[in-house]
Amino acid sequence: MSTTEARQAAREEVLELLRTSGSFLLVTHEHPDGDALGSLIAMHGILDALGKDAKMFMAAGEIPLPQEYRFFDVGEVVSVPPPDIGERVVVFLDCGNIDRTPDDAVKHEGARILNIDHHHDNTLFGDVDLVVPEASCTAEIVWDLMGGLGVTATLEIAEALYVGLVTDTGKFMYENTGPRAHVMAADLIEAGIDVHGIYRRLYEGVPAAKLNLLGRALERVRRFDDGRLTIATLDCDDFRQTGADETHSEGIIDHLRSVEGTKVAALARQRDDPGGVSRKKVSLRSTDGEVDVSAVARAGGGGGHRQAAGFTTEMTEDELVAFLRAEIAAQLTQS
Ligand code: AMP
Ligand code: MN
Ligand code: MN
Repeated sequence: MSTTEARQAAREEVLELLRTSGSFLLVTHEHPDGDALGSLIAMHGILDALGKDAKMFMAAGEIPLPQEYRFFDVGEVVSVPPPDIGERVVVFLDCGNIDRTPDDAVKHEGARILNIDHHHDNTLFGDVDLVVPEASCTAEIVWDLMGGLGVTATLEIAEALYVGLVTDTGKFMYENTGPRAHVMAADLIEAGIDVHGIYRRLYEGVPAAKLNLLGRALERVRRFDDGRLTIATLDCDDFRQTGADETHSEGIIDHLRSVEGTKVAALARQRDDPGGVSRKKVSLRSTDGEVDVSAVARAGGGGGHRQAAGFTTEMTEDELVAFLRAEIAAQLTQS
């Protein structure tokens, strides 16, 4: 079977599962981004339109959502998996691997797992996997399924899908932006979404703490190997003194990647664990695609896309810089 045929078969199997099952639990990755939230809320709306019992799950620590996503209605989200989880289809959205879900309680024996995602390194952990690396975002796959199910988008569904699309394509500017992304946008605009209103909600009204954290990060920028690697590290004091939290670091890396000569941009955020272990969350971006940052992230214990990936590490800052420089050098000498 060719990849296209296999993909088509998986799509049919997913449509059948969605049509014939009665109850679902919808989950997404930790620290949900626009695609994670948009896909979750849109899928919920679609299943609702089909008269299904679909519950959205998010760990308690994820709420309140980051300021830019607070317009999403998460009133119906549960933080404790329902007791009948074993009889539900658990739908994982935008999760490259099963461990990206923050709560082990949703990995219930007996529950069928449906894995809908666009990460090329998805570990295919589902009973049914619909992984489409060519899709710009998971929301694009959900939009396609909506069409297959014959559901017409409500305004809430259309807005949620658009948020996933806009955020994962970097406002239609990243290399994952294919023609389908624009067809989808046109479809959602026809459904009545307020394009500029969504832009304002996502990208304006930035809290002062977030701006101050960006200022700190820009002061911390270091460049290595003729600027091939542009990196900044934020530590606990930076968060404390600016009053910023983890979610305020979103978007900083786009400033780092824009610096001339950069092949890989990295942003590390150090957060002290109550257990005393100091871990860094590291975000990676590739600029011209010459370095596959998902491979670098996998070597560090994480994963992601070729152009955008991440991992969590206990390395010191010096160890991290040495690790990244070596990984980048290894890839560039191979090519
Ligand atoms: P971020 O830098 O957090 O915006 O993440 C960029 C991409 O890397 C996203 O597609 C994530 O799914 C992926 N990613 C980030 N952190 C991890 C991780 N610890 N494990 C696997 N994938 C990750
Ligand atoms: Mn995501
Ligand atoms: Mn995504």
